Amino acid sequence: MNRAFTEVTGYSESEVLGCNPRMLQSGRQDQDFYREMWDAIARDGRWQGELWNKRKDGRLVPESLTISAVRDAAGNVMHYVGVFSDITEIKRANELLEHQAHHDHLTGLPNRLLLEDRLLGAVLRAQREQTQVAVLFVDLDRFKNINDSLGHHVGDRVLCEVARRFRALTRESDTVARLGGDEFLIVMEGIADPAMVSRIADKILDDLRANPVSLEQEFFVGASIGISLFPRDGADPATLMKHADAAMYRAKERGRNAYEFFTSDLTQSSLARFRMETDLRHAIERDELRIYLQPQFSLKTGRRIGAEVLVRWQHPQQGLVPPGQFIPLAEESGLIVALGEWVQCAACLRWAEWAYAGLNPGVLSINVSRVEFRRGRIEDTVRNALAASSLPPELLELEITESAIMSQAEQSIEVLHHLRAMGIGLAIDDFGTGYSSLAYLKRLPLNKLKVDQSFVRDLPGDLEDCAIVRAVIALGHSLELKVIAEGVETADQRWFLTSEGCDEMQGYLRGRPMPADDFRRLVLEA
Ligand code: C2E
Ligand code: MG
Ligand code: MG
Repeated sequence: MNRAFTEVTGYSESEVLGCNPRMLQSGRQDQDFYREMWDAIARDGRWQGELWNKRKDGRLVPESLTISAVRDAAGNVMHYVGVFSDITEIKRANELLEHQAHHDHLTGLPNRLLLEDRLLGAVLRAQREQTQVAVLFVDLDRFKNINDSLGHHVGDRVLCEVARRFRALTRESDTVARLGGDEFLIVMEGIADPAMVSRIADKILDDLRANPVSLEQEFFVGASIGISLFPRDGADPATLMKHADAAMYRAKERGRNAYEFFTSDLTQSSLARFRMETDLRHAIERDELRIYLQPQFSLKTGRRIGAEVLVRWQHPQQGLVPPGQFIPLAEESGLIVALGEWVQCAACLRWAEWAYAGLNPGVLSINVSRVEFRRGRIEDTVRNALAASSLPPELLELEITESAIMSQAEQSIEVLHHLRAMGIGLAIDDFGTGYSSLAYLKRLPLNKLKVDQSFVRDLPGDLEDCAIVRAVIALGHSLELKVIAEGVETADQRWFLTSEGCDEMQGYLRGRPMPADDFRRLVLEA
């Protein structure tokens, strides 16, 4: 023995000389362990491994140990030499790494990896014991609002507080995991009756309803819960999670702060929707979005003055999907921000390329969703798109719907002024369908009103629509704005608009939305 031996074991030389090393045994390894160890030494002359030994003070120490047999010239074993070191620190570091790999660092809850493991274990046990497992998919309501309006540090604290409550409201044997963002999953084993699960879901929702997430400022957080049961709703963890997720969507659709059990009809509606959302998430990465352009014309000269970008989604199975089918989904899920960034960048790059090649494409109009507009990041998005493409700002115009602007008029004014200061144009889209306050309209730094196509459709036969369009044109001009009409399909409609002094038009009569390459050809021909 040496000094390190004393340090690790606590025994001095006089205490151990002449004793059998067995005195260090902790009792944590069984007889088989030692038998195999001695078999290996006899066979190979050497053994290496980890084991627990007991110190003099009774504490157990994990050790890495090598034992070698020392033989004389005749090959007889003279003695054994054991070399060992204390691996407490290494073990602790390993455990920490292990923990980090399997837990969410913010809330300390199991992460998706560990959850899937636990759920699989639960399913196998339930199979053996003929019981049920419940999977609860919990998604906080409007959590994005909290993050956006109060900041991420508040959002993080809300998540921790909510995680703590979920833990407190469930049994020790249940698993509460965080999947990411504001999504949690609870796995409950040994369920005899679905009513048991309803009670837990009610308890969670009641708790959130009754108790504010009290920080400096008190506010309430709601949640939507979707529930699936093994074996009724799925035989494996992936299916159970997918179905609980679909049920959660149904709960959200039905007005939030509620729970729903999975039912087979969800496979049709919500699941298709869910699949669409997942697909949409990948659409940008997989380069499936397409820029379509619809030309706009001057009614005075008949000349092309620019085009509006109308995005399309080239879906691998469903073909070309129109924006009406995925923009609302993108708005709900927040994906619209990434989608809008993509559209702006892609369209500005293309447009700048043409402008610098001397093609004279005119002004590029891009739609901005109400969600993008409200998030307040629209300024950054535009700045980035202009910088990345070097597009002269006067060649860019944004279309923002009337309702998006008016639903928070005061903030809108500020954002619009910032955008105007960059030198880009601004148009109100779908004008006439919202409820514009004329007082605000006067203060908005706009260039253009876009008459909604619902008023154009029945021109010039419908007298009421004629009166509305006439009034909008007069209003626009009195505010020194250009007026453009969308959805112009017939020569009669164009005639009416021209005679009323409308400035510009867009519609099937002169050109449908077309792939960017087709539009380029159109510009080249001019
Ligand atoms: P919007 O901005 O009001 O676009 C006009 C819509 O009318 C387009 O539908 C266009 O194809 C259609 N249209 C054009 N001319 C005519 C016509 O003569 N007759 C009729 N009946 N329709 C005509 P689309 O392409 O399906 O787009 C629908 C909406 O989706 C757009 O309405 C816009 O709000 C939104 N959208 C499209 N692209 C984007 C985008 O990149 N970002 C955002 N946020 N929204 C977009
Ligand atoms: Mg538009
Ligand atoms: Mg419109």
